[in-house]
Parts: sequence; structure tokens; C-alpha cells
Amino acid sequence: MIRIDGSSGEGGGQVLRTALALALVTGTPFQMVKIRAGRSKPGLLRQHLTAVKAAAAVSGAELEGSHLNSQELTFRPGRVTPGDYHFAVGTAGSATLVLQTVLPALLDASAPSTLKLEGGTHNPAAPPFDFLVKSYLPLVRRMGPGVEATLERPGFFPAGGGRFRVNVRPAPLQPLHLMERGAVVRRQATAMISQVPFNVAKRELEMVGRVLDWGEEERRVEEFKHSSGPGNVLSLEVESEHVTEVFTGFGERGVPAESIAVEVAKEVQVYLHAGVPVGPHLCDQLLLLLALAREGSFRTVPFEGHAHTQLKTFAHFLDVRFDVKEVSSLVTEVRVGRVST
Ligand code: ATP
Repeated sequence: MIRIDGSSGEGGGQVLRTALALALVTGTPFQMVKIRAGRSKPGLLRQHLTAVKAAAAVSGAELEGSHLNSQELTFRPGRVTPGDYHFAVGTAGSATLVLQTVLPALLDASAPSTLKLEGGTHNPAAPPFDFLVKSYLPLVRRMGPGVEATLERPGFFPAGGGRFRVNVRPAPLQPLHLMERGAVVRRQATAMISQVPFNVAKRELEMVGRVLDWGEEERRVEEFKHSSGPGNVLSLEVESEHVTEVFTGFGERGVPAESIAVEVAKEVQVYLHAGVPVGPHLCDQLLLLLALAREGSFRTVPFEGHAHTQLKTFAHFLDVRFDVKEVSSLVTEVRVGRVST
């Protein structure tokens, strides 16, 4: 049985989710110890537990240690069964992270699936729904499978209560090569608000206009009327010839709207300046897709913790070789291929 130290690398929830995803795809059981040991509230939180249960539901897995705050888990997957599933985090924990745990296995399944996911849809430190549909899923589709996601209700931290649906039409993942970004063809700043003064959105967008020099027609407010609690998210979308990247800021009580805007605008500047197609978050998520395709390449910004942690976790399950080269202080190149025997 593979034994994984959950505190290695970033030591967060991603080690667990990636291990679950790969256990499903490869049919390999694992035991994880020290789950999220480095975090202030270690062990399985509601979001992680939902991911564990979701992975078990799609594969009829046997579980040991699958309870709240558990720091040890044994996961023995059975056969992945496509179908209609409903997973609810039950708190504002990220539902998009639950999706990412089971999606790789369903992309590879013998028949289509539909998923209904409930929980947070726009959480700090997780892929926001807009990133999922505009950046991540288009790349999944380019690799072969069909996947569409539809937002029914946003779920902001801390109230949660969001819901979205996903349709999956499986197909073998084909290699993806993403070395060039191409010219920027569209830019869109969206300030989302729900039960938050309109002025907050206006101030954020004005600051985006000032820092990035994006015109009025490239900035818009999206007001949600039906969320469970208040929320404010600033989403900056950069659509280029070969890829779309989405950068996100999260409104917080006590933090001026302008500061949120400046921070996320700076992320866009760093990305544009580097001239690469893939930003830091897309990087660690794309690594998993390419590992599963067993071939591909892309250029990105310098590797950070999550990317290194992904590679460490892959090594437990897959014989895939990653060549990671620093092309310059701004650019990292990743090439993925089979380990030659
Ligand atoms: P914890 O460490 O508390 O367990 P966690 O379960 O949220 O937290 P992390 O290990 O931090 O797990 O992983 C979060 C994942 O969400 C990573 O894959 C990261 O790339 C992704 N992510 C975080 N912020 C964004 C963002 N703004 N856009 C897209 N993806 C994001």
C-alpha cells in the first residue's frame, strides 16, 4: 500500500485531493498520514471530507479514517462508475475543489456523468467558478473530453450555499502543448457583488482602470440577487489567442475595495510581463491533466509550492517524467513525457 505523508510540500488539502484523483484513475489504494498537518486547523475539514466521500461514491471505495478532523485516511478505490451524482459540502467550503477531485476519473470513464455540486463557488484559496469555466475547462475540452459547467447560484464565503451543475462526456486525454500565449484579444474586469453596496464594485473597477489602463467597455458589474450571504469578488479575465487566464480578488470586511483591486491587478501585470500562457494557479492544475495525458508542455511563471507538491504526489502513482527548466527569472518551461525504460 502506498503511504503518503500529507504534510510534505505545501502540506495542504491539495496533496489529499491529488492523491484521491490519482487513486481513482489508477485504481491504486493509499494510506495518508499527517493530513494537512502544517495548517492551523489540521486534518479533514468539511470540504476535504466531502472530496473523500465524493471519491468514494464514484468508485465504491473502502474508507478508514474518513471523519472530520481526521489526520489519517486509508482509501481503497473500486471501479469508477459514471452516473448522476450530487455532492454537497454543507458549509462554504469550496465545491470546485470537490469537482477537481473526481473529474479526472470521470473524464476517463466508460460513459457520461452529470454532477450537482453545492457549497462555495467563489472561495479564497480555491479555483473560483469563473476560473473553472473560462480558463480550466476549455483546456480540458481541448484535450478531448467534453465538460460544461453551469452556475445556478453563487456561494460566497462565509455563507456558502452555491450550486452548479457539470456534464461530463469522457474521452481519452490527448497531449496539450501550450508554449505561446499569442496576442491578447479581449480583457474583461467583472466586479461581482451580492448584498454589498454597488459603490464597492465601482471603486474596484475604477482602480483596475487606473492600474491596468483597461477601458470602460472592459469593466462591468455583475450583481447577484439570490445568494445565501454577502459577497464581493473581482475577476480579471485575459483572453489571448491560445489561452484564457482569470485572476481573482476577494472582498473582505475592513479591506478597502481599492486594495483588493490593486493586488489582483498586480497579478495580471506579473502574468502579462512574463509573456507566458499559464499563470501560477492554472499551472498546478494543468500539471495533473498533462500527467494523466502522459505528454505535453507549457510555459509558465516560476514554480511555487503547489506545483512542486503536485509533482511529488504524482510520483507515488504515475511513471511520468517532468522536465522543469527555468528559462529566465520570469519563465519556467515544463515538458511531460513517459519515463523511458
Ligand atoms: P488547505 O491548505 O487549507 O487544505 P485547500 O484545501 O484549499 O487549503 P490548497 O492546498 O491550498 O488547498 O490548494 C488550493 C488549490 O486551489 C490549488 O490548486 C490552487 O492552485 C487553487 N487556487 C487557489 N487560488 C486560486 C485562484 N485564485 N484561481 C484559481 N485557482 C486557485
